[in-house]
Amino acid sequence: MSTLLEREAWRSEARCASDLGFFDAPIVEQRRKCNVCPVRATCLAYALANKIEHGTWGGQSERQRRRIVSRKRPYPYTRLITLLRGAEPDLLRQAKERLP
Ligand code: SF4
Repeated sequence: MSTLLEREAWRSEARCASDLGFFDAPIVEQRRKCNVCPVRATCLAYALANKIEHGTWGGQSERQRRRIVSRKRPYPYTRLITLLRGAEPDLLRQAKERLP
């Protein structure tokens, strides 16, 4: 079992961690920055695994993440695989457990 520090280590590479204006920027600007973030997939897996409802995570808005976990309209599998490719394995496993 990994320690909390190990599980949260990906945050040290987060592009938003060193970008003071990130969270005040419009969503479209946040998503543009997320798309070049080295931990984008892990960030999305973290948000899905922890059912985080607010904010932009892994380049996906609140609405987009609701769509990913929607049971009414299944999210395209290949697109989801692409979004989560390269995510930290433990978080990826936890995220998959929450998917429909
Ligand atoms: S993908 Fe996540 S960690 Fe990276 S910049 Fe976006 S919100 Fe921050």
